[in-house]
This record gives sequence, structure tokens and C-alpha cells, in this order.
Amino acid sequence: RAKDDQRGSWAFYTAGMEGAPAALLHDEHLLRQALVQQSFVLHYQPQVEVASGRLCGFEALVRWQHPERGLVGPADFIPLAESRGLIAAIDHWVLREACCQASAWHAAGLPRVPVAVNLSAIEFRQRDVAQDIAQVLRECRLSPRYLEVEITESALMLDAGQARATLSRLQALGVSVAIDDFGTGYSSLAYLKRYPLDKIKVDRSFVMDTPGDSDDVAIVTAVVQLARSLQLRSVAEGVETEAQLQLLRRLGCDLAQGYGISRPLTAAQAEAWMRERSR
Ligand code: C2E
Ligand code: MG
Ligand code: MG
Ligand code: MG
Repeated sequence: RAKDDQRGSWAFYTAGMEGAPAALLHDEHLLRQALVQQSFVLHYQPQVEVASGRLCGFEALVRWQHPERGLVGPADFIPLAESRGLIAAIDHWVLREACCQASAWHAAGLPRVPVAVNLSAIEFRQRDVAQDIAQVLRECRLSPRYLEVEITESALMLDAGQARATLSRLQALGVSVAIDDFGTGYSSLAYLKRYPLDKIKVDRSFVMDTPGDSDDVAIVTAVVQLARSLQLRSVAEGVETEAQLQLLRRLGCDLAQGYGISRPLTAAQAEAWMRERSR
């Protein structure tokens, strides 16, 4: 499936569609419509503490309920949304939905764990993102400590001064920040020192072939150690096997997320998952 390879939106458009430009226009139209009709849905993927297996949070992952193709993953529409100026609206919807869901879960007596949302680098650059977040937290009655934002390295690249200001405001607010897909962007170790950050998420591409691939083991080891030395928490993403989890445990990686722990779940499934585990 197009969703599963890394070619992104182009794989999607070449999968049996005639002209990409027409398809793009059509999809842009549908995407705008989806924003009006709010035809997005969030799936929630659990994050657990490696040492204990304890639930530590959920990452909210957006899907589009496409009128013709069913549920479409973010890799197949986020790039389009970014290029058409629609990403801010989508990320805002996601933020509100995730915060209100977490708030509802807490009110229902489910584990008080944070929810993480992905912010596009473009969205992150917006001057009022921290203010926007503060407003949503108030509206959803969620304490800032239950929200985490995930940004990629590219969000920090664009405008260092702006990024620092935004991160400081988030820190002051009490919202934590994770660097997503660490090591895959235009990495600069300088920003780990320069910016107030909380977590480093080791990209799935480095975790995937562990423990068999010794180069990947070396990379994951180094990132986990780097995080620890900087007093940041490390999260391994894309953990699929028990052997990977064992390696992470040995390395002292803090948190893990992946199909081996749980696939991303609908809100109802996530709720059932929490109830099941707390028994
Ligand atoms: P990400 O933030 O790195 O999210 C992790 C992706 O890896 C998710 O794909 C998740 O379903 C997938 N995944 C998790 N565990 C495993 C595993 O064990 N094996 C494999 N093969 N895959 C795993 P998804 O949901 O398709 O999201 C892809 C990317 O789309 C995300 O990467 C994130 O960058 C972006 N994204 C998702 N939701 C949003 C959103 O609300 N706003 C923005 N701006 N971007 C989003
Ligand atoms: Mg993420
Ligand atoms: Mg990630
Ligand atoms: Mg990733």
C-alpha cells in the first residue's frame, strides 16, 4: 500500500490514477471540504515505559475519511495540506480533538497520561502557536502537563530565533516538547543544547533493523546515551519485536512505541485498551 512506503504522496497519486495534476486539484478540493465537514479522525498509539511496560501516554495520529478511498493516512495528505496552506487548520483541529479527548478520558477516571500531537514545521513557525495551544487547553480543560507537542528537526531549522521564543513559551506554559524522527532531518546537535526540549524520539528507521544490524544498534545506543546525558527522555518509535524491546531495555531507553506494543487505536479501542490493562 502507498501508505506503507516512504515515497509519500506521489506513490498515492500514481496508484491507478491518470493525471496527477487533476487528481491533485480534485484532492485539494476534497481536503478543503473535509476541513469544513471535519471529516478527520484521530487514532491513538500508546507509549509505554520500557522498564515496566506502564502506559505513559498516547500519540494522536490523524487520518482523513476520504469520500472515495476510505481512511487515508497522513503521509498521503499532509504534504498536500502543507503546500496548499491547509496544514494550520488541520493541526489546529487535531490539537483540539486530542486535548478534549484526553480531558474526557481523565474525567472518566482513565489513567491520567499525556497526549502527544504532531505539529507541522510550518504550523510551528506561526507566531501565535503557543497562544493558540494555551487557548485550546483552557477550552478543553486540560492541564498543560498532559499535552506534548512533537516537532521535527526542520521546525527548528527555519527560524532559530522564532523557534526559541516559541519553545520558551511552551516551556513556560508547561507543555512538553519532543523532537520527532530524530536523526533523519538536517540534524544539528547544537539545537539540543540551545532549545528547551523534553524528549528525543529515535526514528523508526533506526529501530527497524535492530538488534540484527550492528550499525543501527550503534546509532540507537548513541542517541539513547545522548538523550540521557542531556537529561532528555528517549523514546524509540516503531518497536515491533520483543528482541527490539529487550535491546532498548538493556540500553536504558525510557519509552517505546510501536506495533509490537500496540497499533494506533481508535478512541474507543484506546479506552478499551486502558480498561483492559488496568484490571
Ligand atoms: P510520526 O509522528 O513519526 O508517527 C509515527 C508513524 O509510524 C505513524 O504513522 C504510526 O502509525 C507509524 N508506526 C507506529 N508504530 C509503528 C511500527 O511498529 N511499525 C511501522 N511500520 N509503523 C509504525 P502515520 O500515522 O501514518 O503517521 C505518519 C506521519 O504523519 C507521522 O509520523 C507524523 O509525522 C505525521 N502526522 C501524523 N498525524 C499528524 C498531525 O496531526 N499533524 C501533522 N502535522 N502531522 C501528522
Ligand atoms: Mg510523531
Ligand atoms: Mg515519529
Ligand atoms: Mg516517524
